[in-house]
Amino acid sequence: MARRRRAVVTGGAGFLGAHLCRRLLAEDFAVVCLDNLSTGLTDNVSQLLELDTFEFVQADVTTGVRIGGPVDVVLHFASPASPTAYLTMPVETLEVGSVGTLNALELARRNQARFVLASTSEVYGDPQVNPQPETYWGNVNPVGPRGVYDEAKRFAEASAMAYRRSHEIDTAIVRIFNTYGPRMRPDDGRAVPTFVRQALLGEPLTVTGDGLQTRSLCYVDDLVEGIFRVVLSDLPGPVNLGNPQELTVVDLARRVIEVTGSLSGIVPVPRPADDPMVRRPDISLARTALGWEPRIDLTEGLRSTIAWFRRNLDAKPAAELN
Ligand code: NAD
Repeated sequence: MARRRRAVVTGGAGFLGAHLCRRLLAEDFAVVCLDNLSTGLTDNVSQLLELDTFEFVQADVTTGVRIGGPVDVVLHFASPASPTAYLTMPVETLEVGSVGTLNALELARRNQARFVLASTSEVYGDPQVNPQPETYWGNVNPVGPRGVYDEAKRFAEASAMAYRRSHEIDTAIVRIFNTYGPRMRPDDGRAVPTFVRQALLGEPLTVTGDGLQTRSLCYVDDLVEGIFRVVLSDLPGPVNLGNPQELTVVDLARRVIEVTGSLSGIVPVPRPADDPMVRRPDISLARTALGWEPRIDLTEGLRSTIAWFRRNLDAKPAAELN
């Protein structure tokens, strides 16, 4: 009988990682989730612990990755991801993108495994081209506060390409655009969880600046489908994965108010430094190479996300959410 394929997911107890672990298990992979729980939650994977195909290793990917047994795929998702997280952990963010990525690549090299890097639309910085194709080199401020995240991911991409060219490792780079859904932390500072939490608690929704900056939001199930297709393909990337439907941040706030039925209003707050003005993926490559495109529209995705937040906000006292 053929051996079950085995995947290591760094950052597997985070928002995207927890969804990915579930998808891989459902596709008959054995999964090792490696996470230091800096922004991830044991709750995200605790139900999986009873499966004999799932293993949780609490470890920091920057201090080396020792995983016994064969490994077929390494999905490197460990990194603070929300601006709130990476601005409070700037050095850790640089370390996990650099040393952490090299360690994860070494794990792939030792096992001759496929390596999939969770990169980001932030490598495009504040883009001067909209929508952004993979061929656009970006407009990043390396010395601004967000530089720690953007440059760490750019270093990680360069590392993956170096391992591909020098060590013949089967690498893939996925540039993920803003993704939302159940299991985001209500306090993580990103627009969707912030607006949903505020709307459900009857607080005003805090929109940065005039709210006319745009985002393109992808529902997590669509994204995970795209990543899974990348895992099974031999596409090196970089490949953009995201939803090309663009809307302004103030329209997003209005939509959250509408779908929650909240009586909350909208208040302006200052816009963070180097906040991108526009953000929209060109997904032509994903369409042709993977046959992938998002299927879940914003209202449907918001409904599932809001239902999950309702259940989980109820379960916790308000003090824990701030
Ligand atoms: P998240 O914060 O929920 O998950 C990140 C996980 O990595 C957490 O569980 C955290 O504890 C873990 N981690 C951080 N540093 C670590 C370290 N040194 N060692 C081991 N584990 C560590 O964030 P997310 O939204 O799930 O993002 C996952 C990945 O996808 C990140 O690499 C992020 O940059 C990338 N990404 C996400 C989005 C998005 O919209 N969610 C967009 C672009 C890129």
